[in-house]
Amino acid sequence: MASASPRPSHRRSLRTRRTLVVTAAAVAAGVGAGVLVMNANADPAAVDLYHQVLPAKDGWAASGSGTTGGAKAEAAHTFTVSTRAQLVKALGSQTDTTPRIIKIKGTIDANTSDAGKKLTCADYASGTGYSLSAYLKAYDPATYGKKAPSGTQETARKAAADKQKKNIVFRVPSNTTIVGVPGTNAGIKGGSVLVQNVKNVIVRNLTFAATEDCFPQWDPTDGSSGEWNSNYDSVSLRGATNVWADHNTFTDAPTFDKSLKTYFGRKYQIHDGALDITNGSDLVTVERNTFDCHDKTMLIGSSDSDSTGKLRVTIHHNLWKGIVQRAPLARIGQIHLYNNVYDTTTVNGYAPKYSLDSRAKAQVVAERNVWKIPAGAKVAKLLSGDGTGSVAGGGNLVNGTETDLVAAYNAAGSKKLKTTVNWKPALTAGLQTSVKNLLTELTGTGTTGAGAGLLK
Ligand code: CA
Ligand code: CA
Repeated sequence: MASASPRPSHRRSLRTRRTLVVTAAAVAAGVGAGVLVMNANADPAAVDLYHQVLPAKDGWAASGSGTTGGAKAEAAHTFTVSTRAQLVKALGSQTDTTPRIIKIKGTIDANTSDAGKKLTCADYASGTGYSLSAYLKAYDPATYGKKAPSGTQETARKAAADKQKKNIVFRVPSNTTIVGVPGTNAGIKGGSVLVQNVKNVIVRNLTFAATEDCFPQWDPTDGSSGEWNSNYDSVSLRGATNVWADHNTFTDAPTFDKSLKTYFGRKYQIHDGALDITNGSDLVTVERNTFDCHDKTMLIGSSDSDSTGKLRVTIHHNLWKGIVQRAPLARIGQIHLYNNVYDTTTVNGYAPKYSLDSRAKAQVVAERNVWKIPAGAKVAKLLSGDGTGSVAGGGNLVNGTETDLVAAYNAAGSKKLKTTVNWKPALTAGLQTSVKNLLTELTGTGTTGAGAGLLK
């Protein structure tokens, strides 16, 4: 069929944008090939929330064949789920790539049994021989020394952790859309959505809260004083390609880090990342999410040797508030960060260290973002780097004033950020030049707001 695809301007209206959603979804569904009318007045309701696909040119996930998730799903692969067991069943097998749409209605508690009974950390530990007091006694650096825990209690900890992992990790197959049903406080509590070595996945309109590891591991060699490390990001992309994460909320609530105990002089950290994009993941668009009350929020690239030529991520119109760091921590990839709002006010004890870290030769273009920072806070502290990463782009506002963040950062430190990148963003649908009202827009309750529960 001859393409009659409209060429959107970079500042096209929401109305046009919705039309493109309709159009792309219709194409994905194979509807009326040849008779499809590309009409600027097309009714957005023609494609429901569940069948919508990533609009054309909306960031890196629009690259290649685009991101359609489960839009082509037949009725037999369209599910509405409200319990953990139903979600597991709907996700099916990792190797079954049949398009599927999973509508989450209400909040699913990942820490529940197949029969729906609430499971506690003690339930996972039961029968393994693990206890925190015994673990602390066994591996106290004062008596055990500064070596990696091994022996009875570490073996027991791992057995208990494996039981929790089996329960709370949800593996997503290729060609899947997971979306929250409007008006139901849709989301997953205590869970970890794992998108690993698959492609074409959409995650929208969901609140991810309280993703917690019952069994943190003591690593005496992490840093100079050791650290307690936890597994489970709320959403983990590992080797994932063409993923659209849109209109979700990520939060540690109700258990904030300030309430966590300290053992061996370090915080007993039960949280890992909010949305981590690692292990050669590629072509990802992270759009209109709220990242709230979390420490290590978004990791792009798990190490300095994560995949070269991948980790291409677009991050736009997200609201970051009450987060400590990694918004994101960017490695290696070509990353476009635009029209985000960073409110660096301390919330529930989450005091910011920095917003954006560019390292391991990351090629970040950060443009037209908005920072709201408290009186006395230093602009130089909003960035971080290892001396090899780049941050290009301009038009960023700090408390309403256009500010060169990189210049401020470089003037203050020695591990300077490079200011040129090896690419130019092209998939920039929705890029706004005027960002003066962005905070109001993203905290609003319309569909242009950020976070879960706004999509209809
Ligand atoms: Ca960790
Ligand atoms: Ca992680």
